[in-house]
Amino acid sequence: MDGEHPSPYLGEKCGVFGVFGHGLEAARLVHTGLWTLQHRGQESSGISAADGRQIRTHKGAGLVAHVYDEPALAKLTGHAAIGHNRYSTSGGSSSVHAQPVISSQNLLALAHNGNLPSTAALTGFLVSRGIATAGANDSEQMHRALEHELAAGAALDAAIARAFPLFTGVFSLLLLTRNELAAVRDAHGIRPLSIGKVDGGYVFSSETCAIDAVGGTVIRDVRPGEMVIASESGLRSVQLAPEQGRLDIFEFIYFARPDSVLLGRRVNEVRKRLGANLAREHPVPADVIVPVPDSAIPAAQGYSAVTGIPLDFGLLKNRYIHRTFIRPAQNLRESGVRLKLNPIPEVLRDRRVAVIDDSIVRGTTARRIVAMIRACQAREVHFLVSSPPVRFPDYYGIDTPKREELVAARMGVEEIRDAIGADSLAYLSYEGMIESTGLPESKFSTSCFSGVYPVPVAAAQEVLG
Ligand code: AMP
Repeated sequence: MDGEHPSPYLGEKCGVFGVFGHGLEAARLVHTGLWTLQHRGQESSGISAADGRQIRTHKGAGLVAHVYDEPALAKLTGHAAIGHNRYSTSGGSSSVHAQPVISSQNLLALAHNGNLPSTAALTGFLVSRGIATAGANDSEQMHRALEHELAAGAALDAAIARAFPLFTGVFSLLLLTRNELAAVRDAHGIRPLSIGKVDGGYVFSSETCAIDAVGGTVIRDVRPGEMVIASESGLRSVQLAPEQGRLDIFEFIYFARPDSVLLGRRVNEVRKRLGANLAREHPVPADVIVPVPDSAIPAAQGYSAVTGIPLDFGLLKNRYIHRTFIRPAQNLRESGVRLKLNPIPEVLRDRRVAVIDDSIVRGTTARRIVAMIRACQAREVHFLVSSPPVRFPDYYGIDTPKREELVAARMGVEEIRDAIGADSLAYLSYEGMIESTGLPESKFSTSCFSGVYPVPVAAAQEVLG
């Protein structure tokens, strides 16, 4: 979120990746990791690398493919590195807040996935120490608090332990000093963070798919409330707060890549079960199942497997257009949808089409898709959603918008069906969603569906009214 406009709902769904290990070209592995985590943020990217003597950083606006070139990577020498892909929604002066966060003291680089809905405690601490907070967003304030402790002579683990209670919100953090790398997760573990091993070193990643990409082996998740420090002497762990793990269930619904493993479950398998449960709850008479690519493909496979209705790819996605949400204005989002998807008329003409998407947020995508399929002379268009209605905004760093922009916050299912122009509309039930994960409800934050926020968002709600 931008410091000038601290709107809590304009959070960041980001990707973080870190490597520690002698003999490793850490920054190059981080570069590969960030490339694999591109889906988690496309606005800016950055890498900080440490060689025991100093920390060097390269960051900039845009995709991983655009931000780095060979000379930039060649300068990022050292055995430890962290990186960040930033996903922002607010547009504007975004690259100003590109991460990792660093400062002229150059004691610490910080990469943050998450959002602090309230920075009252943190800001109070900084002000009481005479440290400037103006223009600093949540991540930058975290960095200032930690660097203050380091500058006073604290070791990295002690600095984190002291600052941790000030971090009232959601964070999967990677922290790099000249000779250590720390991974820290808030007590609820709302955003993911996993640990792997690679060539005698350690790797930390928002998602396991990026550990695979660097040839690593997944060890385990960083536990909610845990700090893990990688140093010369290996890995050590300190539990800073009791674990109350509640992973954001939207990671399973949409954000994470299907080849990642979250809470021991392969995302692809969970998404297939979301589709299978949707078929059991809402079988529709259709001739063809068409997924909205790419995120709804596994759910459509699950739906097809249960109903026996064939799956066909009647909508083609331009892989080089990025997630439409990053376009701030509604009119741009709409043109983004047109640019992104193109129908294949032969798959749709004269057919009863059941189109499956993973979620409806504002309703823009669904409306355009139904119109597109009708324009191909489909006989009927049934819209199926492999998650429940999104009725509540997110404050934890994943950008679901203001409440009034959420179509399901304003309208019932029948009204939404009418608004998107479908012959029928059905959502997966809340219970069906939980069941699909194979895990108990208590393991999840389901706030965008339930309005239950495990981390207090009072300050955020005040802003939203
Ligand atoms: P909307 O047009 O606002 O209803 O957006 C729904 C579409 O955006 C669906 O196709 C989802 O796959 C996708 N989507 C859902 N949540 C997000 C998000 N936070 N960022 C980007 N895309 C999303």
